[in-house]
Amino acid sequence: MALLSVILPSYNEEGNIANTAKVLSETLGNAEIEYELIFVSDGSTDGTYEVIIEESKKNSKVKGLEFSRNFGKEASIFAGLSVACGDACIVMDCDLQHPADIVPKMYKLWEEGYEIVEGVKSSRGKEGIFHKAFAGIFYGIMSRLIKMDMKNSSDFKLIDRKVVNVLLELKEHNTFFRALTFWAGFKTTTISYDVAERQYGTSKWSFKSLFRYAILNATSFSTLPLQLITHMGVICIVFSIILGIQTLVKYFMGHAMEGFTTVILLILIVGGFLMLSLGIVGHYLARIYEEVKGRPKFIIKQTTDNIHGNV
Ligand code: UDP
Ligand code: MG
Repeated sequence: MALLSVILPSYNEEGNIANTAKVLSETLGNAEIEYELIFVSDGSTDGTYEVIIEESKKNSKVKGLEFSRNFGKEASIFAGLSVACGDACIVMDCDLQHPADIVPKMYKLWEEGYEIVEGVKSSRGKEGIFHKAFAGIFYGIMSRLIKMDMKNSSDFKLIDRKVVNVLLELKEHNTFFRALTFWAGFKTTTISYDVAERQYGTSKWSFKSLFRYAILNATSFSTLPLQLITHMGVICIVFSIILGIQTLVKYFMGHAMEGFTTVILLILIVGGFLMLSLGIVGHYLARIYEEVKGRPKFIIKQTTDNIHGNV
């Protein structure tokens, strides 16, 4: 019988683990699906890992691992995938904002032959207008970059073993799970769900961290900003030729402009563009530097005894 691995990144979620484990094992048990629940504690500073161990003693299908420090949700997802034994894996948040009753439905679609089942938010839950607008712009840009509609996409998805293996083979350090499944291809379908209220605790994302995440992911999927610098340069050259000719003509005709304002403006504009361009180049350089170092995406400190994957 096929095995389903459910991967649950958990960062300081001690109040959620027990309930999530209970709800999921009931749901999957009722649907008669063979499963394992893999909780990845992302360097939690509360009792998250201890709760995972307790749950694992009660139910051997609950497994867990703990990072040496906080590595971020992407790292947790990939760590979970690397130890999962399932023929299909589902990634979902452990605060049950991704509803458990969608899981058997995803599994059913997988049985029908789909290799990727994308969870699509039909409503974005309780998010501020600012947050919604920002998410809208970000996904608009990302969708154009990868030429696929990523609107309302999330990390809640089912992927077949074939896709898991493809993702685990990727050498890149800075992964973006949400977009990589689109990038990978395969037979895909979507399933929509309503984002539920968080069960316990607060969201781990601040606006600042979301903004950084957006810039990082947009630039790791595209070199468009670098090409924009070239366009900017071409426009500057065209302008400088026109302005240069005009200045020279005026000079030789004997009535050169009183140029102080023009000079100040030119210095400021050109200086601004130059610094911006340097910043963009610097950003890519930093990304390359991080990739070249080839450090692991995460460090696993310990795992529960029932994990036999390639840790
Ligand atoms: N998470 C994680 N590492 C982090 C931040 C978050 O593993 O550094 C997990 C978190 O425990 C949760 C999921 O990622 O299961 C989504 O986080 P959260 O609920 O805070 O985000 P939101 O639902 O508000 O987008
Ligand atoms: Mg959440």
